[in-house]
Amino acid sequence: MATNINIPPAATAKTTPQATTTTTAIATTPMTTTTTASTTPKKREKKDKPDQKYAPTLLLPKTEFPLRADAAVREHQFRQRCTTDLYAWQRENNQGELFVLHDGPPYANGHLHLGHALNKLLKDFVNRHKVMQGFKVDYRPGWDCHGLPIELKALAELKAGTDRSALSPTQVRAVAQATAQSAVDSQRQEFSSYGVMGDWTNGYKTMDKDFETRQLKVFYEMMNKGLIYRANKPVYWSPSSKTALAESELEYKEDHRSRSAWVAFSVDQPLDKLVSVLPPGSSLQAVVWTTTPWTLPANRCVAVHPKMNYTLFKSNTSSDPNTVYLAATDRMDEMKVRFTSPKVKAATDADSATAGVVFETLAQLLGQDLVGSRYQHPLTGEKSLPFIAADYVTSDSGSGLVHTAPGHGMDDFKACFPLGIEAFCPVDGNGMFTAEAGPDLEGLSVQTDGTVKVLEMLVTRGSLIQEQVYVHKYPYDWRTKKPVILRATSQWFANVGTIKEDALKAIELVRFVPEGARRRLEGFVLSRSEWCISRQRSWGVPIPVMYNVETDEPLLNRSSVQHVIDLVKEYGADVWWNLSTEELLAPEYKNDGNTYRKGTDTMDVWFDSGTSWTMIEDKMPRPELPFVADVYCEGSDQHRGWFQSSLLTSVALTGKAPFGTLISHGFLLDAKGIKQSKSLGNTVDPAVVINGGKNLVKEPAYGTDVLRLWAASSEYAKDIAIGSTILQQVAEGMRKFRTTARFMLGNLKGFKESEAVPYEELSRLDKFMLSEVYQFCKNVNAGYDELLFNKVYGQLQYFSSTTLSSFYLDVIKDTLYSDAETSPTRRGIQTVLFHVLTAFNKAIAPLAPHFAEEVYDHYRDCFSPDQQQPTVFRTGWMEFVPEEWNNTEVRGEFLVVKQLRTEVNQLLEQARAVKVIGPSLEAAVEIQVLSAAGEKEKENEKGGWSKVVELYAEDLTRLFITSEVKVTHHNSQQEAESNLSQDKQNKEEGVFVKVLTLFSDGGDDKSAAASTGPKCRLVVKKASLFKCPRCWTFTATTSDSLCGRCGPVVASLKL
Ligand SMILES: [Zn+2]
Repeated sequence: MATNINIPPAATAKTTPQATTTTTAIATTPMTTTTTASTTPKKREKKDKPDQKYAPTLLLPKTEFPLRADAAVREHQFRQRCTTDLYAWQRENNQGELFVLHDGPPYANGHLHLGHALNKLLKDFVNRHKVMQGFKVDYRPGWDCHGLPIELKALAELKAGTDRSALSPTQVRAVAQATAQSAVDSQRQEFSSYGVMGDWTNGYKTMDKDFETRQLKVFYEMMNKGLIYRANKPVYWSPSSKTALAESELEYKEDHRSRSAWVAFSVDQPLDKLVSVLPPGSSLQAVVWTTTPWTLPANRCVAVHPKMNYTLFKSNTSSDPNTVYLAATDRMDEMKVRFTSPKVKAATDADSATAGVVFETLAQLLGQDLVGSRYQHPLTGEKSLPFIAADYVTSDSGSGLVHTAPGHGMDDFKACFPLGIEAFCPVDGNGMFTAEAGPDLEGLSVQTDGTVKVLEMLVTRGSLIQEQVYVHKYPYDWRTKKPVILRATSQWFANVGTIKEDALKAIELVRFVPEGARRRLEGFVLSRSEWCISRQRSWGVPIPVMYNVETDEPLLNRSSVQHVIDLVKEYGADVWWNLSTEELLAPEYKNDGNTYRKGTDTMDVWFDSGTSWTMIEDKMPRPELPFVADVYCEGSDQHRGWFQSSLLTSVALTGKAPFGTLISHGFLLDAKGIKQSKSLGNTVDPAVVINGGKNLVKEPAYGTDVLRLWAASSEYAKDIAIGSTILQQVAEGMRKFRTTARFMLGNLKGFKESEAVPYEELSRLDKFMLSEVYQFCKNVNAGYDELLFNKVYGQLQYFSSTTLSSFYLDVIKDTLYSDAETSPTRRGIQTVLFHVLTAFNKAIAPLAPHFAEEVYDHYRDCFSPDQQQPTVFRTGWMEFVPEEWNNTEVRGEFLVVKQLRTEVNQLLEQARAVKVIGPSLEAAVEIQVLSAAGEKEKENEKGGWSKVVELYAEDLTRLFITSEVKVTHHNSQQEAESNLSQDKQNKEEGVFVKVLTLFSDGGDDKSAAASTGPKCRLVVKKASLFKCPRCWTFTATTSDSLCGRCGPVVASLKL
């Protein structure tokens, strides 16, 4: 857009009396590019002083809307009405359909960080847009209150000297509950300070009686569908947390270092086929590789692939010439490396490393020929352990002979279970070997000294072929950041394998934002067939199961569970620990001759939060919809967490996805692009953004709306950076919005909607501006509908700085300030400003509600009394924009007008450079239409460019911000001939000329039009008339007299 070059009368307002009255006159313009305008007035003030006598007669903008936001203080005035009050009002009074955004509960632990703020703000943008559209929005914030971290924090906060191990589960639960409640209270305060609208007084907590009851009902329903079972099988076990973990509680470390071992298993009972190829008197050793030597005590068999080839070989490195080894044929190169002595092994390349190793191949046979042979345990000496067949054995790594410990591996368990091989697990909950591992190992930690001891024992027994450091991906406990192990225990599982297909079908109907996240959730669903839901902790919802003391058989059926649900409904989940087993037993089991004990497991917290959708399904059932809540919106890590646990429980019970739209957002990075984390100390505290830090120069108090606009401006689907520069930019954007709004408010002072000029009577310039409003509203609405708030923010910026400040507001100033207050042109402009401000304020309201409320308060009086509302959020959405504003004819014409404006501005710039003119108002413009005979008529018929020039003749003076625009017609042939020679001469005489071709259709093919289209000659020179001392246009007929417009205006004021 062209540089702003006018010097509006407003520039003198600094010295006018209005500036000192209580109603502040606006001394600055809303322009963002007024380098000329902002520097020139200072120079001109003295010179222009005589003109000051007319200043009081100008209609300068007046408003009490403050220039400075002082947001951290002023926002509080609007907080209540646009959050709590608004929520309650719309829930009762909005006439549209129900819209449920279901809150994913943050963990009730500690203070909030910027990630929490981003999450809640995105939700608030969605909700506020819906409220303005007339939906009844339901948004109940929630908190996830159970689980290990809260339990550990509560225990850590106990007074020094408290014996934590002596606490009963009831006592542990009491302190954990208090810790969670205090976090909920402080987080509620913090969330409210972000201006988030919702039902804060009725937030849900997973430790509420009501919630616990619903959760147990979900468990009950899943049990009835046969989806809950108990199994003694390996699960991820965290020795550091002393509990089982679900896949979703793991994080994988890429460079975990293991001490892997190549071990010889002595085959003591080979089957006939094997015997037939063995030289007499030989000792056969199967080569087995393991990355977890501590699982060797639990070895129960060795797996081979039935179709794979295996080789019997001798090695020259063996101390006993009768020893024959067995390994997969495809792994013989690897074997050579493993049979080198440590000295040779140190060589740098594989060839030289294995140069001294010579193998003698004796025979080959298939894996199926090995199955049934038996071996001796390398540590315990236990005899007759079997070789078994398993399809998952590959020749990609290891020896093709797989050490199998069904107590410590999922695949191992699956292979052994059908064969009746038990899941032997000589490791306890602390990760220590039990007595079953033997006296040498008992009490040692499997991850540290237990591993060392196992390796030592292998060396002593002559079974260790080689030890090797192995770097690989390994699961860690995501809370303690310590490696986990696989350990067989009796746990409760949800069979999600059978729900998988239904879950995938349900998410076909879900809208994902961003769409790419669909595959992520599908992937997590596909990869999971069971969900370990039991945890060995006290702070949670109990798994309501009794065990027969004698047989250990679980008592879990409709009546036993229903009895517990009834008790929890009345007393809360504490009842499980507070009542005796007898009291917890359903009546029919009280005297059935058996003795029971109650289980001590609690449920996985993902099961807690994953059942939160039941609150909506129960209270606001919408059977006609294929989903439960309209929107879920959380961080992208929830695809493996809450999104998934909610989906699985919801599909299991209702067949529906819990969400119709699933929004996922990224994580926060610092200004350098490094992920923010407490441990790195690079987190940004939302409270500091709002209220400022200790050093207010370094960390100013930006207020809530700037925090909100930052969230809106971010590309949330990716990870988002934030630092002081980014915040400064957003704050500057906010300042510009404020200045623009303030200018409009100042010029609407005293305007009433009832005085609005009907559309058909507006000038073409005003109609064009309304067509821009139409486009703006359309784009803003699309941004909200697509849930792309950065698109909305971009529209606000463009509209405010380019469409308004650099164009419309610039062009209309003269009329606003100098015309008679009620002149139709001025009223027309005010009518447009009223609509512009309304559109702008509605568009920004969901993002910066405090600002929008403040703006609304300062022009509410402009609306008809029956249209005035207590809050901008009750004024509706974009329905006020009529279709007729989408005026394509005027938009087409403006392609020509804008091109002319750009060209004229360039000529004005040239004239100013050589000081022919100062401000553009000193200039007169002539548009010479150069057409051959007959062409003018043709152009007119087509509605072509020359007609546009005629139609806009009056508007052009304002559009160019000059004192005069004249349109004349000439014969193109004659003019063209004299052009070149005249241009030079013209410049010397202070006349600036340009010949150009105009396009009335915005033409795609401009080059073709340029060669054939009609031409136009622009002439810029100093205006011939005198400067009007009131409006500064050069339109006065004599020096020191008022112009034709100002004369009557001033006269009428004196009457
Ligand atoms: Zn005037």
